[in-house]
Amino acid sequence: FKKQRHTAEEYVQGILNHDRILLSKAITLVESKLSSDDKIAEFILEKILPFTGQSLRIGITGVPGAGKSTFIESFGKHLTSLGKKVAVLSIDPTSQRTNGSILGDKTRMEELANDPNAFIRPSASGNTLGGVHSKTRETMLLCEAAGFDIILIETVGVGQSETNVKGIVDFFLLLMLAGAGDELQGIKRGIMEMADTIIINKADGDNVKKCEIAKREYQNALHMFPPAANGWYPKVLTTSALNKSGLNEIWKVIGEFEIVTKESGHFYSNRQGQNLRWMHDVISYYLHYSFFNHGSVKEQINYVENQVKIGSVSAIKAAKSMIGLFM
Ligand code: GDP
Repeated sequence: FKKQRHTAEEYVQGILNHDRILLSKAITLVESKLSSDDKIAEFILEKILPFTGQSLRIGITGVPGAGKSTFIESFGKHLTSLGKKVAVLSIDPTSQRTNGSILGDKTRMEELANDPNAFIRPSASGNTLGGVHSKTRETMLLCEAAGFDIILIETVGVGQSETNVKGIVDFFLLLMLAGAGDELQGIKRGIMEMADTIIINKADGDNVKKCEIAKREYQNALHMFPPAANGWYPKVLTTSALNKSGLNEIWKVIGEFEIVTKESGHFYSNRQGQNLRWMHDVISYYLHYSFFNHGSVKEQINYVENQVKIGSVSAIKAAKSMIGLFM
C-alpha cells in the first residue's frame, strides 16, 4: 500500500484545475500530523499561494441548536443559485471529546453536499495549541486556489474557537435565537462584539413576533458597544433558515460590508494583520513543539516538573534552566 500516490506537482495542478478529489487529498496532507507529510504540504501551499485571496471569507458561529447547519445549507444553496462556488469548513472544538465530528456530519447538509458548486469539509480543531495551529487557514487557501469564491467557516460558539475563526475571516456572523432563556444565551459579550452581523434565526410561525422583539433588543445592545475599528456598524437581521427567508437580505448586507471596508482599506489591513498573526502562530507552534521534543528537555522535564510542584525550585528558575538546555 503506497500512501502517497501523487507528486506534489500533481496536487498543485489538480487543485488549480478545480479537481475536488485532489483538493480533498491535499487537505488531508496539510492536516496530517506526520512530519513526513510536512514537506509536500509546504510545497503545495507555496505553489498555490499566488492563486489565493480572491474569495470572501465568512465565519459563522452560534450555540448548538441555533441552526448553523440548517442556515449554512440554505444560505449555501442561495449562493450557488447566484453562481457562486461555496466551500464550507466546519471546525468542531468538541470533536476530540466526542470522538467524532458533529459539525462535520455530512448528513446535516445533504442538499448542499450534493451541489456540484459546493464543497464541505469538517476540520477537527482538537489537539492543537488552543486550536491556534489548526489547519483551517491552510485548508481555506487550498479551497480558494481550487476556485471557491465564498468560504464559510462554521464553529460552535462555546469557547475559544470563535476567536480563532474571527482571526481568519473577513466577515463574522453570529446566529442567535429569540427568547431562548436569554441573558444573551450564554454568548459572552465578547463574542457579540466580534460579530459584524447578528442573525436571529427561526423567525417563522409563532416565533416571528418574538424574533422582531429580539432584533430590536440586540440592536439596542449593540449601540452600547464602542464602534468597531473598521467603521462598520453591526446589523441585526432575522431569518428562517428552515423556510429559506431573509437570505438575500443577509447577502446584501455582506455586500455592503465588503464595499464599506474595501473603500476604507480596512478589508486589506485586516488581512495583512491576519497574515502577520499567522506567522507568529506558526513560530510559536514550532518553537513549542521543538522545545518539548528536544532530547535533554524530554529527559528532564518530568523531574523538573515535580520539583516545581513541590516547590523546591521556582517556576521561573526551572523554566529558564530548561530553556538553557534547549538553546
Ligand atoms: P446547529 O446545532 O446550530 O447546527 O443547529 P441545526 O441546524 O442542527 O438546527 C437545530 C434544530 O433547529 C434542527 O431541528 C433544525 O431543524 C431546527 N431549525 C434550524 N433552523 C430553523 C428555522 O429557521 N426555523 C425552525 N423552526 N427550526 C429551525
